[in-house]
Amino acid sequence: LQQARRTVAEALGARPGEIIFTSGGTESDNSALRGLALARRAQTGADRIITTPVEHKAVLNAAETLRDRDGFRLTLLPVDHAGLVAPADVAAALGDGADGALVSVVYANNEVGAIQPIAEIGALCRRVGAPLHTDAVQAVGKLPLDVAALPVDALSGGAHKFYGPKGVGFLYLRNGTPFWPAQVG
Ligand SMILES: *Cc1c(COP(=O)(O)O)cnc(C)c1O
Repeated sequence: LQQARRTVAEALGARPGEIIFTSGGTESDNSALRGLALARRAQTGADRIITTPVEHKAVLNAAETLRDRDGFRLTLLPVDHAGLVAPADVAAALGDGADGALVSVVYANNEVGAIQPIAEIGALCRRVGAPLHTDAVQAVGKLPLDVAALPVDALSGGAHKFYGPKGVGFLYLRNGTPFWPAQVG
């Protein structure tokens, strides 16, 4: 387990303690949205989740559940003909950042392959202190990923999308990021 954790961490430029193993990409996405949004709202009162209509259902349904069950507000950003989000629209949705509980944008789209400008989006989130999650399930093993250079707070991966077994995934969670875990005690 320790070796596997080191292997995943090294592949992402992360530290082993920043890798949380999960049951797959779906659990990683669900945990990231819930854990980050609830922690951010508890700390700051921010209650807006900003994401896109082209997310995998593991993100979209988690965001809708946080809206319907937990009282968050939800903003779905527009995408262009290629499925890309414009960083300017992220900036507009964030405004001064006061109500931004979480931004979540898929790294590489699972249906049309669009690769989002995550570095630019991350820089905008950093400017206002909003946490950024990216669903990188389709990117791990195909695109270079380096969380030392990429301004994201959380990143999801799922093993069966890169020749691993089903039933295994991971969530990269940047050290020090406020997060409410699913299991406590
Ligand atoms: C497959 C996929 C998921 C879900 O991952 P599982 O490991 O199958 O639960 C989430 N997001 C994207 C982009 C995917 O392609």
